[in-house]
Amino acid sequence: MTSLDTRSAITTTTHFINGSWSRPGGPTFPDYNPFDDQVVARIAAGGPAEAEAAVAAPQAAFPGWAATAPAERQRLFLKAADITERRRAEIVRILAVESGCSAPFAHFQVQWSVNLLRQAANWGYLPVGEVLPSDTPGRFAMAVRKPLGVVAGFTPWNGAFNLAWRTIALPMAFGNTVVIKPSEEAPVSAGLLHAEIAAEAGFPAGSLNVVVHAPGDAAAISEVFMASPAVRCINFTGSASTARILAERAGRALKPIVLELGGYNPMIVLADADLAHAVDATVFGAFFHQGQICLCTRKVLVERPIHDAFLDALAARTAALSSGDPTEPSTVIGPLINDRAVRQVAARVEEAIARGARVVTGAASHGRVYEPTILADVPRDAVVALGSEETFGPVLVVEAVEDAEEALERAQATPYGLSAAIMTGDQDRGLDLAQRFDTGIVHVNAPTLVGEPSLPNGGVKDSGWGRSGHYAREDFTEIRLTTLNRGAGRYPI
Ligand code: ADP
Repeated sequence: MTSLDTRSAITTTTHFINGSWSRPGGPTFPDYNPFDDQVVARIAAGGPAEAEAAVAAPQAAFPGWAATAPAERQRLFLKAADITERRRAEIVRILAVESGCSAPFAHFQVQWSVNLLRQAANWGYLPVGEVLPSDTPGRFAMAVRKPLGVVAGFTPWNGAFNLAWRTIALPMAFGNTVVIKPSEEAPVSAGLLHAEIAAEAGFPAGSLNVVVHAPGDAAAISEVFMASPAVRCINFTGSASTARILAERAGRALKPIVLELGGYNPMIVLADADLAHAVDATVFGAFFHQGQICLCTRKVLVERPIHDAFLDALAARTAALSSGDPTEPSTVIGPLINDRAVRQVAARVEEAIARGARVVTGAASHGRVYEPTILADVPRDAVVALGSEETFGPVLVVEAVEDAEEALERAQATPYGLSAAIMTGDQDRGLDLAQRFDTGIVHVNAPTLVGEPSLPNGGVKDSGWGRSGHYAREDFTEIRLTTLNRGAGRYPI
């Protein structure tokens, strides 16, 4: 471990393999603050050799971790939760300087993680199977849930801290050991911090391993995970385009792959909705973390009678969001993660404007801080409105609709299927409409972005598959049929 920038409080910069930090001294790459381009750390640039070691360690640790008593696993998860809570201020600061995360989302990430760890602490006590009826006299049949083995995770930079805990805690709570490869955009907040916390909590050597790598080297690390017979499951959070590459490769290796991907999440606001609540839910859903969360709202479909009043109130609330340096506690909108992200957001907004879209507010940037942007009168063929492309930033399309049927039809015109929301004063109608969404998540009278670690978040269609919370047991265990047979058998030959 080396301390490279005391201002950032980042001390951990090397791989964590088999309970130890790799010795510094090999190749490194700079880890930038997306707001001011300061180098906050130099991170070890791992390659296939480090990845091989990071896979061998959890393979060796697996039998021991799988056999660890639920009470001991519970003790470790609770300790990790306490350490995370104790380090809150430092984690919030690291999230700001490494990933551009402003204080509201950083605190959210920490609390979400603490809650998840405390919930996961009890999952070792969930039932591990069922006794099954059999047609054969004397046969006692059991469906017994077993952990898979080593689960290899890819953690993202956006919800770097909490989504990395999700990638780690879900498989581990059900008895799997884990290797993760954090995103090169936020290797500390998306994995190295977690290794520090797990080590302090006393998780056994090899149960959690972290291998970090320079930009451009993800595929080489990923190939080690895919090719290793020890890795029994791939656990990916990221974009649909990368997921297609990984799913094809995992298919060749016949490895299951859990995919938490993006979305084009619509919000429907019906004429009987509580207008003030609808506006608040939209601002939060669209602009939390600069719109860089897979559950963020991308389009609002508003029934015509309240459309203008809704848009006026939304524009006023949005224009008042403070933007700038995410280390300032008052900042709400921080920078986008990198120049590529700023270029993509700006290009999509400019394309919509060129096709005739009206800028209600925003559509300007200061450095990498892109102002929260609302577009109206957007032609259906503008990329931001298409539904097939996720614009991963603070850009919201608002459209007027004649009725709920039209809203539903337009909301569903997307290959994604992550989240959706309906704001209405009529709960029965809301629930009826909710049943008709082809998404993994739908909320009535809440934003598209609802973050509770116990709830089964996850998508359908191009948004992937797999569910969080204790529902992840389906993804990270397999059933072994076990029978005990008494008496002589009778066989057809
Ligand atoms: P984003 O561009 O928003 O970071 P990606 O889906 O490209 O989302 O990246 C998510 C994760 O996938 C990161 O950990 C990244 O290192 C990894 N990744 C990107 N491209 C590849 C690839 N070709 N093979 C393996 N992993 C990849």
